[in-house]
Amino acid sequence: MSTPMSTTAPVTTRPKGAATMKAVVVHGPEDYRLESRPVPSPGPDELLIAVEAVGVCASDLKCFHGAAKFWGDAARPAWAEVGRVPGHEFVGRVVAGDPRALARRGLALGDRIACEQIVPCGRCRPCSRGQYWMCGPHDMFGFRGFDGAMAEYAIVPARALTHPVSGELPAHHAAYAEPLSCAMHAVERAELRFGDTVVIAGAGPIGLGAIAAARQKNPLRVIALDRSDEKLALARRCGADVTVNIDDEDAVARVLGLTGGEGADVYIEATGHPSAVLQGLRLLRKLGTFVEYSVFGSDVTVDWSIISDDKELDVRGAHLGPGCWPAAIKLIESGALPMEDICTHQVPLEQFQAALDLVGDTAGSSIKVSILP
Ligand SMILES: [Zn+2]
Ligand SMILES: [Zn+2]
Repeated sequence: MSTPMSTTAPVTTRPKGAATMKAVVVHGPEDYRLESRPVPSPGPDELLIAVEAVGVCASDLKCFHGAAKFWGDAARPAWAEVGRVPGHEFVGRVVAGDPRALARRGLALGDRIACEQIVPCGRCRPCSRGQYWMCGPHDMFGFRGFDGAMAEYAIVPARALTHPVSGELPAHHAAYAEPLSCAMHAVERAELRFGDTVVIAGAGPIGLGAIAAARQKNPLRVIALDRSDEKLALARRCGADVTVNIDDEDAVARVLGLTGGEGADVYIEATGHPSAVLQGLRLLRKLGTFVEYSVFGSDVTVDWSIISDDKELDVRGAHLGPGCWPAAIKLIESGALPMEDICTHQVPLEQFQAALDLVGDTAGSSIKVSILP
């Protein structure tokens, strides 16, 4: 929207009574601290939200543990910033803001909103082509450019992309809009057809979202792979027709058996485990489509001639949830998803470290862990 910069001060700058707030602050890898900070005041074109819930993402954990993707190495500079408040999967109530920002976004004080995790620059080549999720500077709440939501309050900057969310939902269910929109984008990248057999590896927050999203498209067969029977039971409730525990059964043989020896049409990788890449290459049919969503902690080595000579596969990446937020919010609001069981843990802000540890305990029972400031 091309309105001139406001010259008038915001009318409502701060919720009454609150001068300081509790916030988690990044001091460096494995050094996040709960601190008292001034409640930020929204400037021109900005809003202030009272954070209701913020999901803890696998990426938050990787950043916490110092992964090179965030803190750099010999091959790349650091992307994450010290001094930031982490947290990019959030919803909150608008408690203050520039009246023009409210009008521009069609919002009133008290409304609940979700923000897309990326805050696009609007000027780089991808942004200028509408491909904002690949924005060059890649400012993202909680990592770079803007403070995130592991705090009582957060600023919604002028360039943020906001979406209204029903105030009726439990806040931690509403905050699942972020991972669900990402999962929906991964499914869109696969360009599903009705006759497809779709295999989704991993039944964590992204995998379950991808299963639910694939179900919305209603292809012939949705197959979920995981190592946990509990997560696979949840995968069925999200819409999987077939579940395979890869510790008990050979997933490649099972998929080949279900498809007359041809293999799956689509494989969506949402585990982050290197072994899941070769598994996908092996269980896809010739001319099949491989969608990679995960972020890996280490390099993956496979025989690339499976992609070329053997099967002529389409290999596609997927990142963030462009264009999928309204549909993700609608799907959560519909009540069709087993949100009570997807959102396994809710903890107060003071226990942010326990929340990170729960996400890191991959053998544990957690799926979506949320902090309720
Ligand atoms: Zn996330
Ligand atoms: Zn940009």
